[in-house]
Amino acid sequence: MAIKYELPPLPYAYDALEPHIDEQTMRLHHDKHHLSYVNGLNTALEKLAAAREAGDFAMVKHWSREAAFHGSGHFLHSIFWPNMAPPGSGPSEPTGDLAAQIAKDFGSFQAFKAQFSAAAGAVEGSGWALLVWEPNAGQLEVLQSEKHQNLTQWGVVPLLVLDVWEHAYYLKYQNNRAAYVEAWWNVVNWNDVAERFKAARG
Ligand code: MN
Repeated sequence: MAIKYELPPLPYAYDALEPHIDEQTMRLHHDKHHLSYVNGLNTALEKLAAAREAGDFAMVKHWSREAAFHGSGHFLHSIFWPNMAPPGSGPSEPTGDLAAQIAKDFGSFQAFKAQFSAAAGAVEGSGWALLVWEPNAGQLEVLQSEKHQNLTQWGVVPLLVLDVWEHAYYLKYQNNRAAYVEAWWNVVNWNDVAERFKAARG
């Protein structure tokens, strides 16, 4: 049974970010918008559980999309709120290891800030600008996210992935992706998946 997600409380008062972000915006954004992501994610996971129960996956695309959209919304907003604090309550620039890493990866704090602001301003449609840690190279990067789902959920850790681009199967399976998927289950390295699960769970 999937866990029930809950709306995390704001870590400060609704008017705490005034005058930069107004109280009414915070009330609507947190209490209405973020809550709807939480509810939408719970509903999607319930519907997917019901689909497994019934063995009926006719709506799997729809509910996967819903889980991606609402899950991404929930996880990103859960980072967004504590990413902010009342003006003047902390340092105005990064310090310590983070400052050093930003200087190393972006040249300077000013250069990072310029890139982040430009990225935020240039997101097409609605979305996010993000400072992320890229663990493969071990470096910071600035990314944009258009909308926010792209059929995934920010914050998840991939454990098992299957490439279903046509180049992965077309020579042998042509348009029969289902046969490729069925065959693929025979070559899954479950030891690797288990190791990734262990590392992710910590
Ligand atoms: Mn929002």
